[in-house]
Order: sequence, then structure tokens, then C-alpha cells
Amino acid sequence: MKKIPIAISSCLLGNEVRYDGGHKQSKYCLNTLSDWFDYKPICPEMGIGMPSPRPPIHLVEKGDSIRVVQVDDHDVDVTEELKGFARKRIPELDRISGYIVIRNSPSCGMERVKVYHENGNPAGKSTRGVYIGEIMKQRPELPVEEEGRLQDPKLRENFITRVFAYEDFQENVKANPTIDKLVKFHSRYKYLVMAHCYEDYKELGRLVANQDGLATAEIIDKYELGLMTSLKKIANPKSHSNVLYHIMGYLKDSLTSEAKQELVNVIEQYRKGMVTLIAPVTLINHYIKQFGNDYIASQAYLDPHPIELGLRNYI
Ligand code: SF4
Repeated sequence: MKKIPIAISSCLLGNEVRYDGGHKQSKYCLNTLSDWFDYKPICPEMGIGMPSPRPPIHLVEKGDSIRVVQVDDHDVDVTEELKGFARKRIPELDRISGYIVIRNSPSCGMERVKVYHENGNPAGKSTRGVYIGEIMKQRPELPVEEEGRLQDPKLRENFITRVFAYEDFQENVKANPTIDKLVKFHSRYKYLVMAHCYEDYKELGRLVANQDGLATAEIIDKYELGLMTSLKKIANPKSHSNVLYHIMGYLKDSLTSEAKQELVNVIEQYRKGMVTLIAPVTLINHYIKQFGNDYIASQAYLDPHPIELGLRNYI
């Protein structure tokens, strides 16, 4: 399988680009995800010409705005350089399907980066780093996650689901956009979206049906943002069980009553937290392979990311 292009904070790959001359190597990114992801390392601070090592910078509240300044000299302000660097990189990041960043960085941190008063005291507020903030403003559909949050099984599964879905969308819809391709894509993603948000599933269906007579490009742009916003919502045992029962409906004429009861038992065990999601999904996949029609067998929900990652073993 072709690896998915992913941007990443350069220090996470072990590159010595941090202010202290060190790195923040992530074993999970480097040893596990690298089998599927083709990393594009970016260090925005080095990108604007700062050396490593360098004096540290932090976020400071100045009037109505948040600036990125040198900790020991607030006159050194690199806010505009970091924003400009982000804008310059946007076109070449066009084909990435995700971005992994590091937490607490005034440049790269996705959220909860501390803001200080001009006198150096904490301002009691936080925000995202200036560089990644600009990237996320320009690319609101892009899956972005902090490496530290990938330790959480639900957030990890959610991020990787979004990356694979977005890559699929870019390959199979955006590369050569037509309504026919969008309809086919949506048909495969119905149940995955339903697991994340039932209302979004209905809304995206209405959009694809194009009752408002929108132009193709507009529908595809709206669908892209709607899909990625929806998948960001964390699916839960109730919504997964609902989808599993929907899929089971396609097997109702093929399964014996014993097999149906067994499947219901496993779905209920999952819903009550006695087994993880992999248990009902494995069983339902087993039956879909034997009895499922093309439509249900092609559902992204059944196989949203590589089984080797074991993501559904922990949720
Ligand atoms: S700017 Fe980003 S990539 Fe560079 S060292 Fe800081 S956190 Fe790492």
C-alpha cells in the first residue's frame, strides 16, 4: 500500500531542532505509524531562520493580541514570521492527509499552550501555537493531532480513522472530482459517518443528493469539510452498536437464528463494556465475507484502518 503523506513536527522524528538543541522523538510515530505514513518533517522555528539551540520563545498577551516573543526579550517578536511561514507552506501541504504536532509549543501546539502576561506571569489562559493555528485556519478539514494525545486509545483511533478517510477522499474524489465519484464515496462511508454522528450522516446524504442545485465544486468542498468535521466527533459504544445492528440487518435472511443470537450477544457485550469493538466487528466481518452483498462489504466502517495497528482492540 502507498504510504499516506503526513506532516509532522520535525522534533518528533528525532531531529535536533528544538530550542535546547535536542529533540522529542516519538517511538509510536517513528516505529509504528511510519509503516503507513510518509512523513514530511517541518520545524517552523528553524524554517524562519532561528538556529538550534536558540533562546526560548513563548506566547504573550499584548493588548488584544497574542504574540510569540523571546522569553528574555519581548522585543524579539516572531509572530508574523511564523504566520508567514505557515502561509508559504500551505500550497505544498496540499496533498497531506494529516498533521502530527507536539504539545505546549508556542509554534506547533494544537491547544492549551500557556499564555503569559508581559511581566512574565501566567495570564491564566491558553490557546494554540501560532504556526499550527494558521495552518488549521487555512485547512479546517485537515486531521491534526498532538503526539501526546495519541496515547489515548479513543483519540488515537479517531485521528487515524480521519487520516485514512481523508486520504481515501483525496485519492478517490478530490483528485478528479465528479458527482458520481462523490456519490460512490458517500455510499461507502455512510456507516462510518453514522457511528460518529447520526445527524451528520443525514446532512451529508442531503448534500450529496444536491436538492439545492449547487455546483459540483461547491458540493465537494462542503462535503469535505462536513465529513472531516463529523469524523472528529468521537464515536461511542451506543453509536457503534447502532451501526452494527444496521449492518446486521443485511444478514437477516442469511444467518441462522443461533448465529443471529450469537451476534446480538457479542454486540451487547461490547455495548456494556465487557469486550472491545474488535469482537463484534470481527464476527460481523466474518459473516459479511460469507453472505454480504457488494454494498455492505464495501463499507469503510468494517475496515477503516489497518488491522495491524490494533486500534479497535482498545476502544
Ligand atoms: S517549532 Fe515545532 S518542530 Fe520545531 S522544535 Fe518546536 S515543536 Fe519541534
